[in-house]
Amino acid sequence: MSAKEVEFIRQFRSNAPEVGYNRWPKFNSQALDLTIEESPMKEHSVQVTRVVSDITCDICGQSVVNEAQKNNMANLDSFAEYARLVAEFGYGSKRDGEKFQFDFCEGCFEDLLSKINKLKAVKKAK
Ligand SMILES: [Zn+2]
Repeated sequence: MSAKEVEFIRQFRSNAPEVGYNRWPKFNSQALDLTIEESPMKEHSVQVTRVVSDITCDICGQSVVNEAQKNNMANLDSFAEYARLVAEFGYGSKRDGEKFQFDFCEGCFEDLLSKINKLKAVKKAK
């Protein structure tokens, strides 16, 4: 029996009792399992995905996301539990075309809120 014949017997499982009549080389079901696992029909690749891994506060520089939430979310892109201030100015404004975007942690947002309330009180007093 040539090496090629042995190769074909193994390839087409002609030595497997339920498939063919060949009794040599001896059918080895464990070897067959290994063959399936290492099948060249499946190609594997590692893909790199861009994710938002953290969001920091624009005032104190600390993360706006607590550790528990960081561990639960692989991508923070949809995370929305923080303060965001967006300002855009258009035609007729001294800041025409300027766009501002700030992210704040809860603590800094509280500070900002109290500053806003103080400003309101000062403006009203005038
Ligand atoms: Zn902060």
